[in-house]
Amino acid sequence: MEAKTINPVKFNDWEEPQNILVILAHPDDPEFFMGGTIAMWTKLGHKVSYLLLTAGERGVSDQYPDGESLKDIRKTEQRNAANVLGVGPVDFLNHSDGLLEVNLENRRQLVAEIRKRQPDIVVSSDPQTFFHTHYINHPDHRAAGLLTMEAVFPAAGNPGFFPEQIEEGLKPTQIRELWMSLTVDPNITLDVSEYWQIRLEALKKHISQIGDPAAFVQKWNQRRQEATESDSNYYEHFRRVILRV
Ligand SMILES: [Zn+2]
Repeated sequence: MEAKTINPVKFNDWEEPQNILVILAHPDDPEFFMGGTIAMWTKLGHKVSYLLLTAGERGVSDQYPDGESLKDIRKTEQRNAANVLGVGPVDFLNHSDGLLEVNLENRRQLVAEIRKRQPDIVVSSDPQTFFHTHYINHPDHRAAGLLTMEAVFPAAGNPGFFPEQIEEGLKPTQIRELWMSLTVDPNITLDVSEYWQIRLEALKKHISQIGDPAAFVQKWNQRRQEATESDSNYYEHFRRVILRV
């Protein structure tokens, strides 16, 4: 097995501003999985946009019991969080939350969305099944990761895949790099300590999901303290695949 390369560094590999498309399952996934990195990228001058595959309507609670009205609430919360991080636009494909499927039709749709946006870098989440010993990855997270991988390679850049899209005027897109967040098998680790605070500010915009904001911030600060006894830095981990240089 390939040795893990851990680079707890601030990321400055890209000389030119990059067009970065983050494709994830739910509102709040970008900020939870990689909010520090997104904040760093926008500060470095890269353009980051979101494509969320669902509106997160199953994230109901006593306070927000109605999934149908939660759709709009969560979209607004996601746009507010994106604003904090300097991200835009934020688009939604409105698949059914919790029931996202890895199928040909969804792959076709995602290829078209990628071809429309022509990103340099695509980011999603690792379609792994388990974390450590106590956590099953959400099926939508797995599906979002698989769909994104299948859309990026080999389809988006190859005009032989979904040629009707090319006939309609879309251009094949050769993605430069694919980054997978939420991975237990990282090959790059970024030190995004200085973006800890802004990530929490963005997460606090997901009001329907986090409960009391003050308690939420306290919980995360405590979690960081416990996790980093020997090293107070905050890291985010990725599986980075360089598809072309
Ligand atoms: Zn999620």
